Amino acid sequence: MIFVTADTDETSEARALDAGAVDFITKPVNPRIVRARVKTHLTLKAQSDLLRQWVYTDGLTGVRNRRYFDERLQEECGRARRDQSDLSVLILDVDFFKRFNDRYGHQAGDECLRQVASALKGGPQRQGDVIARYGGEEFVCLLPNCALEGAMHLAETLCRQVRVQHIAHADSSVAPVVTTSVGVCSASGRAEFAADVLVGGADAQLYVAKSLGRNQTSGARLADASRPPAPASTSATGATGA
Ligand code: GH3
Ligand code: MG
Ligand code: MG
Repeated sequence: MIFVTADTDETSEARALDAGAVDFITKPVNPRIVRARVKTHLTLKAQSDLLRQWVYTDGLTGVRNRRYFDERLQEECGRARRDQSDLSVLILDVDFFKRFNDRYGHQAGDECLRQVASALKGGPQRQGDVIARYGGEEFVCLLPNCALEGAMHLAETLCRQVRVQHIAHADSSVAPVVTTSVGVCSASGRAEFAADVLVGGADAQLYVAKSLGRNQTSGARLADASRPPAPASTSATGATGA
C-alpha cells in the first residue's frame, strides 16, 4: 500500500505507515519519482515472496519441507480442536532405500526421491492438504477434515502411485521396483490431542507396516495408536500391481 496524498504533515505520514503503508508520497507528484519508488517496492515484494517460498520448499524434491509441515501441523491441530473436526497425518517411507543407494549410487537415489515426490504430488486433492518431505526418504501428508477411512484410501493411492513409476530396485526384498510403506494416524477434534502425539501415532503405524512386510499401509485412530501391536486397519498392496 502506497499513500499518495495532499497531506504533508508528519502525523498523517506516521499514521499511514503505522497502518501498513510501505511509502507516503505527497502531492504534487513527480511521475518519474513515483515510478521509481513503485518499482523499488515491487522488487522488494518479489524478493520477499521468493525468499518465503524457498524457506518452505525442500531443495531436492521441490515439495514443501519439514518447517512448513511443522507450522501447518500446529495451525491445523488448533483448528481441529476449535472446530471439533477430524485431522489425519500420514508418514510414507521408501522401502530398502539404503540398498537402493548402495546398488545404484547416491545420485540415482536423489533422482529416485524426486520421482517419488512427483508421484506423491498427484495424490492429495483437497485445498488445505499438505504434502512435504519430512527428511531423508520420508514424506508426510497433513489432511485437515479427513477421518481414518479417507486417509487410508489416500495412503493406498500414494503407495500405488509410487509403485507404478516402475523404478527398478533389484535389491528390494519385496518387489523388483521401488515401493513404500505408509503409517496413518487420525484424530477426532472431539478429543484433546497434541500435535506430536498425532505424528508419533503415524510413525508407530509406519513401524507396523514395515514389520508386517513393507509395501503396505497401516493406520489407527489416535485413541488406539498408543496400543501396539494390533493395527486398526492394514492393507498389503501387492508386489507390483497397479
Ligand atoms: P526400510 O525399508 O526399513 O525403511 O529401510 P531403508 O533402507 O529405507 O531405511 P534406512 O533408514 O536404513 O536407510 C535410509 C537411507 O536413506 C539411508 C540414507 O543414506 C538414505 N538417504 C537419506 N536421505 C537421502 C538423500 O537425500 N538422498 C539419497 N540419495 N539418500 C538419502
Ligand atoms: Mg526412513
Ligand atoms: Mg526407508
